[in-house]
Amino acid sequence: MIDPTEALASAKAAADRLVKAKRLNACLTPPKDLRKSLLQQAQAAHPSGVLYGMPVAVKDNICTLEFTTTCGSKVLKAYRSPFEATAVAKLRAAGALIAGKTNCDEFGMGSSTEHSAYGRTLHPTDKVRVPGGSSGGSAALVAAGAVPAALGSETGGSVRQPASFCGVVGIKPTYGRVSRYGLVAFGSSLDQIGVLGRSVHDAARVLSVISGRDPKDSTCEDRDPLRLPTVPESLQGFVIGIPKEYFPPDLDAGVRRACDRAIRLLKELGAAVRDVSLPHTSYAVPTYYIIAPAEASSNLARYDGARYGPRFDGQLDVRSLYRRTRGEGFGPEVRRRILVGTYVLSSGYYDAYYRKAQQMRALIAQDFRNVFDRGVDLLFTPTTPSSAFKAGEKLADPVAMYLSDIFTVTANLAGVPALSLPVGRIKGLPIGGQFIGQAFLEDEMLEAAYALERVVPAGEDV
Ligand code: GLN
Repeated sequence: MIDPTEALASAKAAADRLVKAKRLNACLTPPKDLRKSLLQQAQAAHPSGVLYGMPVAVKDNICTLEFTTTCGSKVLKAYRSPFEATAVAKLRAAGALIAGKTNCDEFGMGSSTEHSAYGRTLHPTDKVRVPGGSSGGSAALVAAGAVPAALGSETGGSVRQPASFCGVVGIKPTYGRVSRYGLVAFGSSLDQIGVLGRSVHDAARVLSVISGRDPKDSTCEDRDPLRLPTVPESLQGFVIGIPKEYFPPDLDAGVRRACDRAIRLLKELGAAVRDVSLPHTSYAVPTYYIIAPAEASSNLARYDGARYGPRFDGQLDVRSLYRRTRGEGFGPEVRRRILVGTYVLSSGYYDAYYRKAQQMRALIAQDFRNVFDRGVDLLFTPTTPSSAFKAGEKLADPVAMYLSDIFTVTANLAGVPALSLPVGRIKGLPIGGQFIGQAFLEDEMLEAAYALERVVPAGEDV
């Protein structure tokens, strides 16, 4: 338990650390505003809250009253939300300090935080590389030690993939575990707020605070907040499945070595490890890149220059207002998604693409249910096919960029929880291992992660 003087000291120290991390371009809030706000928040925070005095940075697509909410887009430049996301309100009620808004790919569309209208975020230890994305700003700030935890958002891996690249823990909860109220919509049937943390425990305690029912979001389940498990002595009794589709022959050798070592450690901890198959895995990326853009094209129709953010005036008619606002306000990746989404939903193509993708989504979800029904408690896989790539490397080739989500999009399509934790390094660059759990059984996933985290030499090259 800390007292108000310590909370104030925590706020000041966080402000100092955030200034130091400025070169990463991970935080979009100007340092001066941030310091002032942190000090005010520390004075107003509830001393009895479980996160009292803990600074938590928030991805810029989650609405806050304090700061602007731009989603990394020009179309929302300087936009201030008149309301606050439920997750943020819950953090505040628990005494946490909102430590600024973090840079991200525009509207969460990307895997490198290069698609931000406010410039790219740098990898925390190698500036020529990307921190992953789209929650790259949140991951970089946690990895740099500026904040112990940060909120990110997931549509297809945007918390776990940057967590893996930056060497921190990232959790995507079950769809419906955390309210989406105030999370700017990208693909509504996939979106969830997730948490990045220095350790499993830091991420888990923030997740437990933001989880639970919310009358403002009908897709949020009517459940109590997540109860945190204790650190288990062993993993005796756990059955962990290793899906062969996540270990293809061309998997990066270092990623394979790190994951193989983690699997050995899981066995040593007492878990039973079993080979399993999720046969529809290879369809996950194409399925995701039909469903997510389809939903995005509808969700992003609201940015028309009349309702939010700046207006790029055309001539006097309304069509040219829309055209200029959307043409100048959205970056190239967002425009590409809107075009793809509109195309797959248009009459004549709907059956060929969108309906097929929905059918495939059901099969992918069924794959998971099948292995879980046969006594497997959890799955273990790599989080990403490689370590952090170089800036610019995949910018000209959207499909190469999309393929960095190959191991993460499945959990979003199926709605199940997943977690990435550091399991080693290759040439100094972090590698993430992923647990995928059963819907609403985050506690089991956390137990396994606690146990593995204690024994894996995550900071060393494999
Ligand atoms: N990288 C994926 C995409 O570009 C996932 C993004 C996300 O999870 N928000 O859509």
